[in-house]
Amino acid sequence: MNVPKLTSPSVLKQILDSNNIHLSKRYGQNFLCDEHIVDRIVSSTDSGNNQLEIGPGVGTLTLALARQAHRLVAVEIDDRLIPILETHFESFPNIDLIHQDILDVNFEDLSNSLGTPFDVVGNLPYQITSPLLGKIVESRHLINQGVVMVQKELAEKVLAPVGSGKGSSLGVFLQAFTEAEHLFNVPKTVFFPRPKVDSTVLRFRFLDQPRFTADEETFFKVVRSAFNLRRKTIRQAMIQSPFLSLKSDRADAVLTDANIDPKRRGETLSLEEFDQIAQQI
Ligand code: SAM
Repeated sequence: MNVPKLTSPSVLKQILDSNNIHLSKRYGQNFLCDEHIVDRIVSSTDSGNNQLEIGPGVGTLTLALARQAHRLVAVEIDDRLIPILETHFESFPNIDLIHQDILDVNFEDLSNSLGTPFDVVGNLPYQITSPLLGKIVESRHLINQGVVMVQKELAEKVLAPVGSGKGSSLGVFLQAFTEAEHLFNVPKTVFFPRPKVDSTVLRFRFLDQPRFTADEETFFKVVRSAFNLRRKTIRQAMIQSPFLSLKSDRADAVLTDANIDPKRRGETLSLEEFDQIAQQI
């Protein structure tokens, strides 16, 4: 089948209308209608790699990616889009379509069929961006890099320098395990329907070694504790943390040995300081 020009808003509307589909907010369905942006996303990935695309929609980005990917698995949750995607993918033997919630996909099983390492690409459904990025970081042994479009605000938060007070625990994890970079912003005008906010495409490449040396589980617990009780001092955050069971005298000793002022707030700590606390624990 000759696939119609999916980046054309009128073509997209015609496909949706003829299939009786009203796009759903619940699934974050704002579809890309801009060839230039699609090309920029594709050229930010490495050709010849195995790729996982999250949320293909009607296949706009998928088809452009598949022209340069080795193999591509596209995971889509919405039943209504599956027959459309099957038709659009007919002449692309290197695409496999999985009809599932991406948060339920077992990445180990996926890597058996897709091959490792694979790249993660997508215009992400914004409701699940944070758990999804968390899942990607957890599966880092299988993944080479991610090129993903997210809401601009979320990108600013995860890319904020650790310790700047503007970040999040997800940002600390991402920056601890990857080289993360802002690639470009995408205006809301290039989507159908038009979302309320602008987007950003970011890329993160997993490092061979994380940027900390402490035990991984303890490092995670310390970072989560620091951001869990944001307005508190790091001392209070550690004592009241549901992740660490530390008595106050032990927390004091840890902070003294890590050479950190107990009155500091957790979000002002640098990666090295989180590492030092985790090492002392
Ligand atoms: N890639 C298409 C594009 O750029 O035009 C669509 C992107 S749209 C922002 C997000 C896509 O993710 C939709 O197709 C939506 O149905 C799908 N989606 C939402 N939640 C999902 C989930 N939990 N698992 C898999 N796909 C999901």
